[in-house]
Amino acid sequence: MTATDGVAATSTREKTTTKANTAEAARKASLYGDHEKVYPRYVNGPFRRLKTIANWVLLSIFFVGPWLRWDRGPNAPDQAILIDMPDRKAYFFAIEIWPQEVYYLTGILVLLSIILFFATALLGRVWCGFACFQTVFTDIFVTIERAIEGERADRMRLDRGRLTVRKVGLKAMKNAAWLAVAFLVGLGFVLYFGNAPTLVMDIVTLQAGAAPYGTIAVVGGFCFLLAGYAREQVCIYMCPYARFQSAMVDDESLIVTYEAWRGEPRGKARKTEDFSQRGHCVDCTLCYQVCPTGVDIRKGTQLACIGCGLCADACDSIMDRFNLPRGLVRFDSVKNQARRARGEDVSIRWLRPRTLIYITALVVAIAVMTTAFVTRSRLEVNVLAERSPLYVQLSDGSIRNGYTVKILNMERTDTTFTVAVEDLPQATMDIVGHETVPGDAATARLPVTGDSVGTFRVYVSAPPEALDGAATPFRFRIENPATGEAVNQSANFNAPAR
Ligand code: SF4
Ligand code: SF4
Repeated sequence: MTATDGVAATSTREKTTTKANTAEAARKASLYGDHEKVYPRYVNGPFRRLKTIANWVLLSIFFVGPWLRWDRGPNAPDQAILIDMPDRKAYFFAIEIWPQEVYYLTGILVLLSIILFFATALLGRVWCGFACFQTVFTDIFVTIERAIEGERADRMRLDRGRLTVRKVGLKAMKNAAWLAVAFLVGLGFVLYFGNAPTLVMDIVTLQAGAAPYGTIAVVGGFCFLLAGYAREQVCIYMCPYARFQSAMVDDESLIVTYEAWRGEPRGKARKTEDFSQRGHCVDCTLCYQVCPTGVDIRKGTQLACIGCGLCADACDSIMDRFNLPRGLVRFDSVKNQARRARGEDVSIRWLRPRTLIYITALVVAIAVMTTAFVTRSRLEVNVLAERSPLYVQLSDGSIRNGYTVKILNMERTDTTFTVAVEDLPQATMDIVGHETVPGDAATARLPVTGDSVGTFRVYVSAPPEALDGAATPFRFRIENPATGEAVNQSANFNAPAR
């Protein structure tokens, strides 16, 4: 090699090194870390059992819900929980919500949000760890994966290994099982939107419309992707709740903590290890291996931690093996951890300003919702004045205005409502297809079948001398004589300007 060749080779090497350094620097500077697949290991313990019970309870509620019946009388759906899209109504046992009452759903959402904030203030991300549908379905999908592909080490080996017939078979089996579960989830969801027994038969015999199949495909598809493949990425990157939950906890909230003061300095240990001069953490990484979101809790509280407590189960099993006190990883408050480190007594303060605010908000929201619900009207009226023409002058000189009166009868029974024109002296009414009350031309009785809207063309006439000018305000009073419930609807009577 000549000197020139040597210099050229050195220069090429330098260029390659510079390129590699630049790539490494770019990787380090990148906002996005490489995704490392999480292979959660199975662990037994109280939190694992709690998670399993929560899964069963929540899935039972979800799948059994559409099959519960509730007698609402003839011509009414007997499904206890139903969202009736064609009739635009929602049913929840004895409660029936009309489209006009959609604000009740807003109220329920507000109520649930306050309960969630309250639970978070007390117990950290207990919702994320035990009750969120993403957590529940991911747990089920991981259980299926474990049953088919084996424990953590087997799954890691399988993924890193060559493509073999066995690998393809196992992956196909797993995806087929996931798809079956996803289909059931989609089906369970759809059953809330129609009569469950009929809908199931229609779906199975391919008689259902495009909407049920489309909904099953969308809901099931999302379940398959989110619980099967996205998993902890949903909690870390997609869920907004993970972002602001830190604002809802304080130093007294119970969260999953690592007792660094007791665990460090960590290190590998033998069964006969003397722990008097070292930390209790034996660096087995079991807490990390069981974590469904790939968190090492020893690095402190992290956004990805969903508070499931599985790492506490794992660590307790290790502590038992080394005859060390349990609770190196535990549900505890930050304040208690500091107290433990100082050797002081610990306590949980359930009542503190934050939780008291949530309790107050909860009580107020429940009171408002209950009052609104108990006093809610079962009668709604809508009056629309005819615009063209605004008025008509009759041959006897009186002025006539036309109105469309819609009476919404929210009771299940057929009802005859009394409709009267008030605050318009000498007014008379003509209702297309109906008579006024004998001897009272300003009052009529209008029948409306139960659970429906009655629409009536109403003509009101009045002599010019009884009017205030171009627009005389008056009102329609609609009353249910059976219940005494009444609605006053304001209207204007139009006439030529004087
Ligand atoms: S760190 Fe522990 S509590 Fe948090 S998600 Fe992982 S296993 Fe669950
Ligand atoms: S499971 Fe416990 S002992 Fe093992 S690494 Fe985690 S904290 Fe340390």
